[in-house]
Amino acid sequence: MAKQGVNEEISDSELLEVDLEAFTAESLDVGNSQSSSMQGCSLGRNDTGSEGDIGSGNVVSLDGSVEASCSTQKPLLCGSSDLMVPLKRKRNVANKNPMQHFHLRHLRVTDVSHQSWCELQVVHGFEKPDVRKTINDDPVVLAGSSVHLARELEEHDVVSVSTESREDHWAVKFLNVLTGLTMLKESGRVRELPVFGQVEGIFLVGVIDELHYSPKGELTLSELKTRLRKSLPTAAQRRTHDLQAGIYKLLFDRMVQGKLESETFVQRLQLRLDKQLAPGVCDHAQAVGFHVCTFSDALELLLLNLTHMDTPNIDNLKIEYVHQSTGAPLGIKEVQFSEPRLLAELHYLLSYWTGQREPQGVDIEDSWKCGWCVFTEHCEWRKASVKNTEQSVWNKRRR
Ligand code: SF4
Repeated sequence: MAKQGVNEEISDSELLEVDLEAFTAESLDVGNSQSSSMQGCSLGRNDTGSEGDIGSGNVVSLDGSVEASCSTQKPLLCGSSDLMVPLKRKRNVANKNPMQHFHLRHLRVTDVSHQSWCELQVVHGFEKPDVRKTINDDPVVLAGSSVHLARELEEHDVVSVSTESREDHWAVKFLNVLTGLTMLKESGRVRELPVFGQVEGIFLVGVIDELHYSPKGELTLSELKTRLRKSLPTAAQRRTHDLQAGIYKLLFDRMVQGKLESETFVQRLQLRLDKQLAPGVCDHAQAVGFHVCTFSDALELLLLNLTHMDTPNIDNLKIEYVHQSTGAPLGIKEVQFSEPRLLAELHYLLSYWTGQREPQGVDIEDSWKCGWCVFTEHCEWRKASVKNTEQSVWNKRRR
């Protein structure tokens, strides 16, 4: 099983947690031509929207068209009626939707769940990758990542695998899924399991922190969140965690139900079926008990096994909060899952990416989130909101 790109492998959940604590957007995690691998059951965290045979810091210029029909449910305004803030410019320029504009083939689950915190923060992260990238080097992020890695190492060793192409990257991810599910079946627990699939015409990619069977035999998803403070997060923070866990369940259940389709990988991710895999990937596959030569072999292996492994759906979702510096447990929160409610939320959130509406900043009552946001000085929504608030106060004084 393999982890892609050690330097980029900061846990998506870790990034999300830090984002929420520091009110900053998670780092842009662009592709790297070299990937690394972990043995046992270590799985890819390089679940970027733009990955491929390109150098770090660049984005891929190839993308699939994304079509979807979705009504805009929120107005292009922010705040209460006397504090409406129109966006100054439209982001869907030149008839390109955001997936095309940002050259994205897929989205990370954390990007989508972070939209429920502040959608504009996610968008600014893609618009200002340099600002976003600085968060990767934040000691808080690195410390949180270490906690995740330490837990992962409790389950398995880590090795590196060299990859040369996007097909290699995905083949390693597939192998991670297969070895992870085997480990789950044999030992009852797996950590860092990749999940992926298409929702509303958008391909989503994420990594589940942990899956295990409870004493009652129920399959339980457990997401680990490290906290700077010795307290549980606010309701607003927990909403993004719950959404993240819900999306993971949706993707996982669909995968083990055999709902992944090979055309999606070709059409959405533009992967080449006949691409020869790098020697390092073939060797790694052999080491974990599989024989693959091309990307098509790896994809077929994945799809075939997913339909025959008889893995159950996830029964329970839990978020485990621990204090970052001491590792002290802060509490475990159960997540209530409703598929219709989740699909409705995703319908709205993903409609931005398919170009059906403009991005939204925070509502006036949530403007406290802007206080620590790294994009404040770039944010038109924030500036317009402040201006409108000042105008409103001025108007009230004159009455
Ligand atoms: Fe969102 Fe506020 Fe940051 Fe703008 S400044 S991106 S509205 S949190």
